[in-house]
Amino acid sequence: MKYDYHIIVIGGGSGGLLIAAASSSLGAKVALIESNKMGGECLNYGCVPSKSLLRSAHINSYVNNANRYGLNAGNHTVDINSVLNRVNKVVDGISPHDSKERFEEMGVDVYLSKGEFIDANRIAIGDKSITGKNIVIATGSSPTIPPIEGLDKVNYYTNETIFNIEYLPKHLIVLGAGPIGTELSQAFNNLGSKVTMVNRSDALFRKDEPEVKPIMKDIFISEGVEFQMNIKIKSVKEDDEGITLLIEKDGKDIKVKGDALLVALGRKPNTKELGLKKAGVELSDKGHVLTDSYLRTNIKNIYAVGDVTGLYAFTHMAGYQGSIVVQNIIFPVKKKVDYSNVPWVTYTKPEVAHVGHTEKHLTDNKMEYKVYMESLSENDRALAEENTEGFLKIITDKRGIVIGATMISEKAGEQIGLANMAINKKIKITEFMQITFPYPTELEIYKTLAVNARKESIKSWQMKLIKKMFLR
Ligand SMILES: Cc1cc2nc3c(=O)[nH]c(=O)nc-3n(C[C@H](O)[C@H](O)[C@H](O)COP(=O)(O)OP(=O)(O)OC[C@H]3O[C@@H](n4cnc5c(N)ncnc54)[C@H](O)[C@@H]3O)c2cc1C
Repeated sequence: MKYDYHIIVIGGGSGGLLIAAASSSLGAKVALIESNKMGGECLNYGCVPSKSLLRSAHINSYVNNANRYGLNAGNHTVDINSVLNRVNKVVDGISPHDSKERFEEMGVDVYLSKGEFIDANRIAIGDKSITGKNIVIATGSSPTIPPIEGLDKVNYYTNETIFNIEYLPKHLIVLGAGPIGTELSQAFNNLGSKVTMVNRSDALFRKDEPEVKPIMKDIFISEGVEFQMNIKIKSVKEDDEGITLLIEKDGKDIKVKGDALLVALGRKPNTKELGLKKAGVELSDKGHVLTDSYLRTNIKNIYAVGDVTGLYAFTHMAGYQGSIVVQNIIFPVKKKVDYSNVPWVTYTKPEVAHVGHTEKHLTDNKMEYKVYMESLSENDRALAEENTEGFLKIITDKRGIVIGATMISEKAGEQIGLANMAINKKIKITEFMQITFPYPTELEIYKTLAVNARKESIKSWQMKLIKKMFLR
């Protein structure tokens, strides 16, 4: 059978755009279907606006704490409209990169419409349809809105609307303590809102190493964020006085009152209106598209990448999966996904960055490992800048090869790159001793850890020998 396209990609977000760009550059005839905004969640309602907002918020926090650095910053105010204008400008500045026009210049046929399967090779777009030899589902995810009593009757924000809020809330109630809730809580707190984070469990930085939570929670508390954790949400209502959330904690009812509510209670895959049943594609209980290690669904010409797979909801992982799918569709040698080296960052102040294995994963899988940890409190750069509330933790296998790392520091998202490289290249922790880092930098902490690891690895008989031979 002759198809209109080699590849049809449904979804013009992080995963879909990468596949469209890469496969068309290799000569494939590609259609890209996007029902909302090109660039998807990350550009329009996710990474880009949140990081832009956090930048303004963090600068405000520095100004508020200027006296800590020997400065008098005087009085200043926060105009949320100006802040959000800047946020939108940043988004607008990046959007040409993801635009329909740019992709058409690459030779991709872009359809700004909803795509729906008619069968395993045919997709309906409006009143027409196109056929593809291969189809990639890259439709992402949306905020989960749980059935909380009264929620449907109150005005609430999600990540899709919060970046257009028209006022700076006096008291923002944030439901959810995942990365989105955490980042946005700090952003609004640092801009001047009182923030209460509300969560079913005490699961702040849940996927990170256990050393992260106490440090970050203390920082949040010192900044004025309130926590209502380990609670049950009973109902929510809105009246002239604002929003009232009724929660139950330790058997007692508590009312949390605010003037804005952000719902950040997780993500649901965008699979509902895709007609996947007609194509025969299997879904998990939670509605994610099930894929094998080649990112293929149970239907052999249909692949899935990104948030819709429910694996790792990060832009870089959607991109990574996208590159695997391009390889597997176009080239005869097939590639499996490898999740042993996944990085992630929560862009709070300080940042929390992770890459590779966690201790929990290694313990659960009964793998042998060693842990090396060093606080930033002895690092001269961190001391000079008063950024000592952080650490670097490196995990190695029994041979000393780096297999995991976690870092808290102002720029941990950048600094974790060195551990990322070490894991990729299967480098031993002691190799960091060979690098001359510029002084003073926080990166020197890698060398400190390497020296500690070297000291530990020297056996007592070796010490004796060194003393006997060279230190007489
Ligand atoms: C507030 C927030 C902050 C975040 N910050 C970060 C961060 O700092 N770093 C990071 O790595 N990740 C971050 N993420 C996660 C990141 O945004 C997602 O992991 C990433 O966007 C997933 O890419 P994707 O291609 O799977 O889906 P998306 O980018 O969501 O793209 C899917 C696209 O498919 C379209 N679509 C859906 N159904 C159809 C259909 N039937 N027909 C046609 N089109 C359809 C949608 O409109 C959407 O544009 C953040 C997310 C949020 C919400």
